[in-house]
Amino acid sequence: RIEHPQAVIDRIQYGADAGRGLEPARYRFVHHTHDGRAVYTFCMCPGGEVVASGSAAGQGVVNGMSPRRRATGFANSGVVVGVVPADLPGGGVLAGMHFQEGLERLAFRLGGSDYRAPVQTVAAFLGRANPPIPAASYRPGVAGARLTTLLPRPLTSALRQGLDRFGRIAPTFLDPPALLYGVESRTSCPLTMVRRPDRQSASHLGLYPIGEGAGYAGGIISSAADGIESALALLGSAP
Ligand SMILES: Cc1cc2nc3c(=O)[nH]c(=O)nc-3n(C[C@H](O)[C@H](O)[C@H](O)COP(=O)(O)OP(=O)(O)OC[C@H]3O[C@@H](n4cnc5c(N)ncnc54)[C@H](O)[C@@H]3O)c2cc1C
Repeated sequence: RIEHPQAVIDRIQYGADAGRGLEPARYRFVHHTHDGRAVYTFCMCPGGEVVASGSAAGQGVVNGMSPRRRATGFANSGVVVGVVPADLPGGGVLAGMHFQEGLERLAFRLGGSDYRAPVQTVAAFLGRANPPIPAASYRPGVAGARLTTLLPRPLTSALRQGLDRFGRIAPTFLDPPALLYGVESRTSCPLTMVRRPDRQSASHLGLYPIGEGAGYAGGIISSAADGIESALALLGSAP
């Protein structure tokens, strides 16, 4: 996840009109790398904060949210790099899940093993400069780390290419105090629980896998819609 002072984003988007009562600005970037990988911003949170999103001990996981007033003074966004099966060490149907768990354990350690988030300035991640770690919204605290050691090399390389492209569109996007956090690892589910057409588990009849964790949705609305459709199927009144 990447974070800036909201004023930086407002200046990029509004230019000379920044600060004149306009709402905190948003952005969206996308890039396709030479080897066909997508790098894109996701879940941009104007006036928001980066929040802890682990679900068990020893996991270093971040996400973002905007409180209603959008007045934290920070803007953050996920920066997603597509993962393909060849990126996964080992095989088996749970390889993606194990890969995700490994990243989260490593992020926890890089953050000092005390629930701070590991961070690195974008300038340092790109090898351009080594500015000090700036103020950050993450309330448990942040710890300077080499995020270049967090992701496998092909993902780091894709992320660098994507950021470089974003910086060509909006040069100050990469300048200090732009800050990267590790690791936003739960943008989509690394596996799918196979369902029958009547939405029961193919292997465990009577169980209805639904929503994001089952691999059928991403986000609030699609998860809710998937749950409603399965409930209707369970009630025997699916259209
Ligand atoms: C900080 C943050 C901000 C987000 N912002 C947005 C946003 O702005 N827009 C958007 O579309 N999406 C957003 N998301 C993603 C969104 O929250 C998820 O996509 C969505 O909640 C998935 O819905 P779900 O019903 O599949 O799973 P969940 O909402 O995770 O529900 C799963 C439920 O299962 C329960 N559970 C887990 N294990 C067990 C067990 N063993 N026994 C019983 N119960 C169990 C959990 O407690 C939970 O209540 C955000 C996520 C986070 C973390």
